[in-house]
Amino acid sequence: MAELISMGPDGELDVPDEPVIPFIEGDGTGVDIWPAAKLVLDAAAARHGKSVAWKEVLAGEKAFRETGSWLPDQTVETFRSHLIGIKGPLTTPVGGGIRSLNVALRQILDLYVCLRPVRWFTGVPSPVCHPEKVDMVIFRENTEDVYAGLELEAGSPEAERLAAFLHEELGWSFKPNTGLGLKPISEEGSKRLIRAALRYALANGRRSVTLVHKGNIQKFTEGAFRSWGYELVREEFADQAVGWDDCGGDPGEKLLVKDAIADNMLQQVLLRPDEIDVIATTNLNGDYLSDALAAQVGGIGIAPGANINYVTGHGIFEATHGTAPKYAGLDKVNPGSVLLSGVLMFEHLGWRDAAQDIVKALGATIADRIVTYDFARQMEGATEVKCSEFASAIVDRL
Ligand code: NAP
Repeated sequence: MAELISMGPDGELDVPDEPVIPFIEGDGTGVDIWPAAKLVLDAAAARHGKSVAWKEVLAGEKAFRETGSWLPDQTVETFRSHLIGIKGPLTTPVGGGIRSLNVALRQILDLYVCLRPVRWFTGVPSPVCHPEKVDMVIFRENTEDVYAGLELEAGSPEAERLAAFLHEELGWSFKPNTGLGLKPISEEGSKRLIRAALRYALANGRRSVTLVHKGNIQKFTEGAFRSWGYELVREEFADQAVGWDDCGGDPGEKLLVKDAIADNMLQQVLLRPDEIDVIATTNLNGDYLSDALAAQVGGIGIAPGANINYVTGHGIFEATHGTAPKYAGLDKVNPGSVLLSGVLMFEHLGWRDAAQDIVKALGATIADRIVTYDFARQMEGATEVKCSEFASAIVDRL
C-alpha cells in the first residue's frame, strides 16, 4: 500500500516499501529524460520488492500553462508534506517574477546541503589521463555566502547610504560608483553543513573530509568556516574523527578531517585526486568545484545532484544540467543525470541494493559502448542510441 515517508523519532527517515514520491517532469528535455529514468528506477526497485508510487507535481512551463503560476503553492506543499522528491530541469523564466525555481525551492524548504557525488564510469570520455582516480562527494553550503542575494547596485541610493555608513562607522572607503555585496557565513550554517558531511563520511566508510575555504584572505567568513569545522570535530565527533592539527596527519582508525585553500584545491583535484574524498565547502567554492570535477570525469551530462535538509528530512534530487530546449522531445539526450539523481535518492532512502544495481547496469551499458549522442560523438566504435533505448539497455543489464 502506498504510504508517505516520514521522519522517525530518531531523526532518521521512515521509508515504507511503497513510498509516495512527488516528481516534477521538468521543462524541455524533461519529457525525454524523466520517463527514461523512471523506467530504470522502477525496474531496479521491483527487483528488491520495492516500488514507488510516483505523484506528479507541476512547476515551470507546464505549471504556468495549466495554472498560471510557475511554482504553484500546491507543489511546494506536496514537497513539504512528502519530504522527498525528484525533479527534471526547469526553465528559468526570463523577466518573470521569480528568479530561479530551483533556488526558490531550496530557499523555501531551507535545503542547506547541495550534494554532488563525482565518480567516473569506465569508458566515459574524459579530458584527463586518470579519471578513475576521481571518487569524491561534495557537500556545498546552499543558503549563505555571496548567494544570499544581499547586493546593492553601484550608484543606487541604498549603496550610497551603506557606503556612507561604513565610512562613518568603520572608516572604510570605496571608489565612487561601487556596487556592494554582503557575504554572510554563520557558525550555525557552517556547522550544520560540515556535520552532514562528517556523518555521511562516517556512514559510508570514507577516509577523509576536506574543508575547502579561502580563509587566508577572507579570514572572518571563509577562515571562520574552517575553524568552526575543526571545532565541530572536537565537540561532536571526537570518538570517530580527528582534525589534521590534532593528530599530525595520522588519524589512526579515525576519520581524518583536513582543509585546503580553494585555489590550491582546484589543482589538487587534478594532480592528486586519489587523496581527496568527501569535501565540505562554502557556497561559491562549491559551485566552481562541482562543475570542474564533473567535467574532469566527462560527466557534465550525467552528474547527479540533491538538495537536502538533514534536520527536517526534506530532500529534492535533481538533474544538474538545464532543459537543453533544442533537443526537447527528440528522444535524444542522455538521461544519466536525472537517473543517477534517482540512484542518490534510493541510497538516501536506504535502498542501497537497488541503487547499486543501477550503477552497475549503467556502467555495463557504457562499457558495451551503447550510449546517447553526447558520449557517442567522443567514443570510438560506439553504438548511438536514443534516450529511451539507452534506458532499455540499462534495464536489460540490471
Ligand atoms: P543546458 O540546458 O544544460 O544545455 C547546455 C548543453 O549541455 C546542451 O546544449 C547540451 O550540449 C548539453 N546537455 C544538456 N543536457 C544534456 C543531456 N541530458 N544530455 C546530453 N547533453 C546535455 O544549459 P542552457 O542551454 O544554458 O540552459 C537552458 C535552460 O535550462 C535555461 O532556461 C536555464 O535557466 C535552465 N537551467 C536549469 C537548470 C536546472 O533546472 N537545474 C540548470 C541549468 C540551466 P550540446 O549542445 O553540446 O549537445
